Amino acid sequence: MSGRRLAALIGSPIAHSLSPAIHQAAFDAAGIDWSYVAFDVAEGDAAAAIEAMRVLGIAGMSVTMPHKRDVADAVDRLEPAARALQSVNTVSWDGDELVGSSTDGAGFVASLAEAGVEVDGARVAVIGAGGAARSVVDALGRAGSTDITVLNRTREHAELAATLASAASVGITSDIGRADIVVNATSVGMGVEVDGPDGDTPDDLPCDPSMLRSGQIVVDLVYHPIRTAWLRAAEAQGSRTVDGLGMLIHQAALQQERWIGVRPDTRAMRAAAEAALAGR
Ligand code: NAP
Repeated sequence: MSGRRLAALIGSPIAHSLSPAIHQAAFDAAGIDWSYVAFDVAEGDAAAAIEAMRVLGIAGMSVTMPHKRDVADAVDRLEPAARALQSVNTVSWDGDELVGSSTDGAGFVASLAEAGVEVDGARVAVIGAGGAARSVVDALGRAGSTDITVLNRTREHAELAATLASAASVGITSDIGRADIVVNATSVGMGVEVDGPDGDTPDDLPCDPSMLRSGQIVVDLVYHPIRTAWLRAAEAQGSRTVDGLGMLIHQAALQQERWIGVRPDTRAMRAAAEAALAGR
């Protein structure tokens, strides 16, 4: 294919996705002739969308809910994280083959590295056991975290997530105070208005912040709002915080590296995401 190249998102719903703004900002910053579009693809139609990618010569695909599992079955080959998770958020070409990757976990580790936080050898408490938490546990294991504890409302989900890394186990609440890094990987706090009329309530927090201690690194995967009630409560306890936008930007940057082969401008991507969120 010559001339303009196309990358696409498939998911449903996709109306509120930040991915088009983030990806297009990086293409524009690099001055390359790529466009990014979002397709609302109904559940069950992921395999057809991957066939369309082959037929139309779409150069790269982002995949979000509810298609991550189905795309793992539809591509020709899976990278190791995608194989372990049986979940794909990125499809790229390797010659004539379509390769499925999962860049969320590596994006999480990259966002911590950007903040000067090393996960190799770290003790990490992950609160939550859904798709995002599973990516994080898998990536922490690959990156050398030596003690990963998973705490979750539904214990069976924590048990499943803890199988993703040999250093991982189901945690108890005292693990939160012992950890070097504490991650909120639940959806608690998402879309909650900060400084809203009712103030912060315990329902906005993944755990009692008095369990945190000064000097810990506290991370939220929730990025809307960017400064969540959880991050503000952690700062009040003397913790250093890392917001969820970093992971979102870095998982997208890792997608573009696979599609184009170069590292995109993550500052332009973050600025675009912040501008899009400010408009909500
Ligand atoms: P998910 O698969 O639906 O998992 C949701 C998790 O939150 C589960 O562990 C669930 O516990 C827990 N949870 C939900 N409501 C809860 C409550 N009221 N009290 C306690 N636990 C609760 O969602 P996901 O895809 O993992 O996403 C989780 C969050 O991460 C979302 O806010 C999402 O926006 C964010 N995220 C961010 C990025 C990023 O790049 N920053 C990437 C992916 C996701 P149960 O197992 O008991 O149901």
